[in-house]
Amino acid sequence: MSDPFIVIGADAAGLSAASKCRRDNPSREVIVFERGEWISYAHCGTPYFIKGAVDKLTDLQSLTPSAVEKRGIELQRKHAATAIDTVSHTVTVAGPHETQDVDYDALLIATGAEAIEAPIEGSNLGNVFSLHGLDDAANIRALLEPPTEFSSDRLGGGGYLDTDTVQTYGAREPPETVAIIGGGYVGIEMAEAFRAWDCRVHLFQRGETLLPAFGEAVGDIVAERLTDANVELHLDTEVTALTGTGGTVSAVTCDTGAQIPIDAALIGIGIKPNTELIADTPIESGRTGAIQTDKYGQTTVDDVYAAGDVAEVTHTVTTEPTWSPLGLPANRVGRAIGMTIAGSPTPVGSVVETAMLKAFDLECGRSGILDNERAEAAGFEPRSQTITAQSRSGYYPGAAETTVTLMADATTGRLLGGSIVGTDRAAVRINTIATALGGEFTVGELELQDLGYAPPFSPVWDPILTAAKVLHGRVG
Ligand SMILES: Cc1cc2nc3c(=O)[nH]c(=O)nc-3n(C[C@H](O)[C@H](O)[C@H](O)COP(=O)(O)OP(=O)(O)OC[C@H]3O[C@@H](n4cnc5c(N)ncnc54)[C@H](O)[C@@H]3O)c2cc1C
Repeated sequence: MSDPFIVIGADAAGLSAASKCRRDNPSREVIVFERGEWISYAHCGTPYFIKGAVDKLTDLQSLTPSAVEKRGIELQRKHAATAIDTVSHTVTVAGPHETQDVDYDALLIATGAEAIEAPIEGSNLGNVFSLHGLDDAANIRALLEPPTEFSSDRLGGGGYLDTDTVQTYGAREPPETVAIIGGGYVGIEMAEAFRAWDCRVHLFQRGETLLPAFGEAVGDIVAERLTDANVELHLDTEVTALTGTGGTVSAVTCDTGAQIPIDAALIGIGIKPNTELIADTPIESGRTGAIQTDKYGQTTVDDVYAAGDVAEVTHTVTTEPTWSPLGLPANRVGRAIGMTIAGSPTPVGSVVETAMLKAFDLECGRSGILDNERAEAAGFEPRSQTITAQSRSGYYPGAAETTVTLMADATTGRLLGGSIVGTDRAAVRINTIATALGGEFTVGELELQDLGYAPPFSPVWDPILTAAKVLHGRVG
């Protein structure tokens, strides 16, 4: 027990670090504390489990506890870290039977994020959910299944489920009408899931555009698609309260004064980093609210690292710290920290905040900077261009409209960001833009890339090249 590497949180960031550290340095003692039952699970798959496209909760798990232990990692589930003492190098951990102070030589905080619910009055009523974790997913799916057919075994909880709560939801009548509060990615993915169960869906968005992080062009096209799918959109509308009957939600009230009867609600108004553990420590959070880290993922205190949704990372374009709570950065930063702790100092790299999203049959992608204000704050003079082109040669079956937006700096031509939306393999095309951003290309350099062409896959000019060609004519 001379030099334990202690990891708090057993999902993407924490287990990536623990696994890589043990692989590179098998003699290193690694202990992972996880406050819940679930480990190594894909939040990202939960909307598809609720929809019914994924059968069982355990399908969303990548590693089982025994697979983690086989890697030589000591895993302690149902053990919540409650305090960190950076002077004595100890973490206080509350387990089911006792609370103990555990020494660390190196410590990783990988506690993720949590859903924000609080500002909405009535968010504690029955049938009001947020979606952050497999237990939330199980409860929502249980409510949607007809009670006569419901059995908690069908959800495939692998022994980790809170079966009493799930059974309670499974015994209720499924909702006919659901309110989704928030038009970000969770709200959009859940609109598709609820419509798959034939629910009438009202989606409320405070601003005028859905998916603000994807830019206006994507938001407008997604709004049209949702309307076609009979999702009732309430844009520019703030939900002020949820009210209930007998402890269960029965209506949503908006700032317009409208009151709409509902049977269930999903609050998807954002997430915040789980930083409570650093409250009484010299570990500092940055301007984003997430934990500040350096190029090796180390916090403002020696030997204490942070990764994943709880931590900041550097943005490639602005070179400033940013908060990018997404799956790949959590895995990648965790892995780099694991290498550093194992003995090879490894920079965690930077991000361009690339994200993808499915909205019914629409595929959306975004990368880099897409809003003028943010670009200007980073010292750029943004110019953007939106084009719509075909996804394949126009004569080839399956060709579909693909809308691309690119943003570049007017003086240097440097590519700042981009988005894409369409029904034919649009989302994966965002990776061309992400790669160009990672390489710090100008829009002129992007235009000169030798992308592939064959009628079934792409027109001669890939839609991204077309957008680059048009924007290049206006900048640099
Ligand atoms: C509905 C949904 C859909 C998503 N879809 C996508 C997507 O399509 N693409 C994408 O890139 N990203 C997506 N994400 C984001 C992605 O899941 C996260 O970025 C990723 O899971 C972050 O990993 P993490 O390890 O930092 O945190 P988490 O996965 O949140 O894990 C943190 C772990 O720490 C544990 N923990 C917290 N506090 C303590 C404590 N005090 N003591 C012990 N343990 C503790 C938690 O129980 C949890 O298990 C989605 C997220 C959600 C919620």
